[in-house]
Amino acid sequence: MDHFIYRDGVLHAEDVAVTEIAATVGTPFYAYSEATLARHFRVFDEALDGMDHLICYAVKANSNVAVLKILGDLGAGMDVVSGGEYLRAKAAGVPGDRIVFSGVGKTREEMRMVLTGGIRQFNVESEPELAVLNEVAQELGVVAPITLRVNPDVDAKTHAKIATGKSDNKFGIPIAKSRAVYAQAAEMAGIEVVGVDVHIGSQLTDLEPFRNAFLKVRELTEELRADGHNIRRLDLGGGLGIPYARSNEAPPLPMDYGQVIKDTVGDMGVEIEIEPGRLVAGNAGIMVTSVIYNKEGEGRDFLIVDAAMNDLIRPAMYEAHHDIIPVLEPEVGADKVEVDIVGPVCETGDTFAKHRMMHPVADGGLVAFRSAGAYGAVMSSEYNTRPMIPEVLVKGDQFAVIRERPTFDEMINRDKVPEWL
Ligand SMILES: *Cc1c(COP(=O)(O)O)cnc(C)c1O
Repeated sequence: MDHFIYRDGVLHAEDVAVTEIAATVGTPFYAYSEATLARHFRVFDEALDGMDHLICYAVKANSNVAVLKILGDLGAGMDVVSGGEYLRAKAAGVPGDRIVFSGVGKTREEMRMVLTGGIRQFNVESEPELAVLNEVAQELGVVAPITLRVNPDVDAKTHAKIATGKSDNKFGIPIAKSRAVYAQAAEMAGIEVVGVDVHIGSQLTDLEPFRNAFLKVRELTEELRADGHNIRRLDLGGGLGIPYARSNEAPPLPMDYGQVIKDTVGDMGVEIEIEPGRLVAGNAGIMVTSVIYNKEGEGRDFLIVDAAMNDLIRPAMYEAHHDIIPVLEPEVGADKVEVDIVGPVCETGDTFAKHRMMHPVADGGLVAFRSAGAYGAVMSSEYNTRPMIPEVLVKGDQFAVIRERPTFDEMINRDKVPEWL
C-alpha cells in the first residue's frame, strides 16, 4: 500500500496533486510520501514484535537526508556502505550506536571516520579487512565491534546482478571457513566479536532462501558459541522484494518474513537486526516525467519522455519493470495503445518499457513511474549533461524540494580547464 492514488481525476501524492508539484518544480522529478515511508518502517517493526530488534534501514536505497530523518526519528538504525552514507546518517541525526557499516571495500579512512564518530558494528567481509580494522582500531586506541558477514551459498532466486549469497559472489566469507576467521578475530586486541551477519540479495520474492540462510546462521551461531564466542546479535540483512507490476506480483509480506525469523532464530537469545532498503523506500516514491513527443515509428509507436536512463537506470540495468501511468486519470473503459516508452539519451538502452499497453498521453502530458523510491535517485548521473532531477517530499498537504535540480552553470563550473591548456 502507498499513498499515490487518483483523486478527482488527478494522481495525488498524499493530499497534494502531482500536477501542482510539476507546475512548481518542473519535470522530471521524484516525489516521496512521508506516510508511506513511515508505514513501511512500522510494518517491519511490528513483524519483529516480541523480539529484541533494530531495523537498520539500508541507506543506499534512498539516501536523501530528509528520508533518513523520517526513519531515524521513528527509531530506525541505518546500514551504511560508505563513509559518505555514514555522514548522511549522522546529518539526519542518527547516533553512531544505531549505525552498522557494511561493504566489501572499506578503506582505512572510512574505518577511522566511523570509529571516531561512533559505530554500532562493522559487518566485516574478508580476512584482510579484519586485519586492517584491527590495526586501525589499535592505532586509535579503541576496540571495533564486529560481525563477520558469512556467505551461506544459497540461491536467492533473484536477478543475477542483485544476488549476493552464492559462493561465487564477491560478498562475505564462505560460511565453512568462517569459524576459523572468528577464531582469529577473538585473538585480536582491536576487535570484539558481537555477532553474525548475512545478506543474500535483493528483490527476493520467495521466503525459502531466507529460511535456508537463517538456518545456516543458526547452526553457525551454535558452533561459535560452543567455541566460546559471545554471539549476541544476528544481522539478517535486507532483500525482501516489492511488487513492481501490481497486476501480477505478490511478494511475501513483512509479517511472514518476520515469522521466518522467529521460526529460525527467534529462540536464540539474540538481538535481531535487519537491513531492509527497497521495501521501505521503493513504493514510497514515484518519478514524474512529461511526454515530449508521441512519435510514430514503423510498426511501433514511441512515447518520448523527458526522463531518461540517467535519472532511473533500473530498466536499463536490471531489465526492471515499472508500472507507468498517466497523471490525469483515464476515462473508465478508454482504449489503450501499445507504445515503447523511451528517454532522450543517445543509447538504445534508454528504454523504460517495450510494447507497453497504455492509455494515450498527449505531448506535454504527465506520466508517473511507480515504485521509484528505491535505487532511483541514488543511482542517477549527469550522463548527456542532464541535471540530476529534484527530489520532493510530501507530507499530508505539504510538499518541499529536498534536493534541488542543479543549474547548468553549477554543473559546468565543476569542470576545470588547466591554465596550461
Ligand atoms: C543492498 C543491501 C541491503 C538492502 O537490500 P534491499 O533489497 O534494498 O532490502 C541490505 N544489506 C546490505 C549489506 C546490502 O548491501
